[in-house]
Amino acid sequence: MNNKKNTHKIVLLGPQACGKGTQGKILSELFGISRISTGDMFREEITNKSELGIKIQNLISEGRLVSDELTFKLLKKRLSNIDCRNGFILDGYPRNIGQVKYLDSITNIDFVIEIDISNREAVFRIKNRRICDKCGTSYDLKLFPSKKEGICDKCGGNVVRRADDYPEAIKKRLMIYRNEVRPILKFYKKKKLLIKINGLNTVENITERIKNGMVEKMGEII
Ligand SMILES: [Zn+2]
Repeated sequence: MNNKKNTHKIVLLGPQACGKGTQGKILSELFGISRISTGDMFREEITNKSELGIKIQNLISEGRLVSDELTFKLLKKRLSNIDCRNGFILDGYPRNIGQVKYLDSITNIDFVIEIDISNREAVFRIKNRRICDKCGTSYDLKLFPSKKEGICDKCGGNVVRRADDYPEAIKKRLMIYRNEVRPILKFYKKKKLLIKINGLNTVENITERIKNGMVEKMGEII
């Protein structure tokens, strides 16, 4: 069977704290492709003061959400950049089935990687997360705590727990994620693009599993 893929158009999915950001960075270096998140895209446009950027800036300053249509326009533009010719990693998009269909109408995704952890594990990981209320440096009570409890190493600010990081808020976000991701997974599973990865492992191990999953799907990947 010789259906080697020449492109690496990847969608990365997974609940909060699953390690998606870390794996996204690793895969981006491994394949020499850009990692694209809608947040970064918005910031870029705003900085460039483009027509869309100004629209987005206005929406955000009014406390409104950027619509699916506007996000899609921006994404379409971003994906047509020369750096996306051989592939890209979409992190945090698509978030709903409408966005999946938009995306499907402009490009052919090669791999959809879902890194999953249980709700319990996500709550456990986020529970230890702390952040400096002054400079934004993040800490983990177990893995990399501040040297002095509650005090930032860098600026002396207070190291606190974000309101979003309390178990009730985390559980609510996870519930929303699970509901929204279900039809997305179904769509990509049907297209035989879905690679499911258990996120309960070391960073290196998860990268290995992702690579193996891609090879299994498409033959050689690099
Ligand atoms: Zn600080």
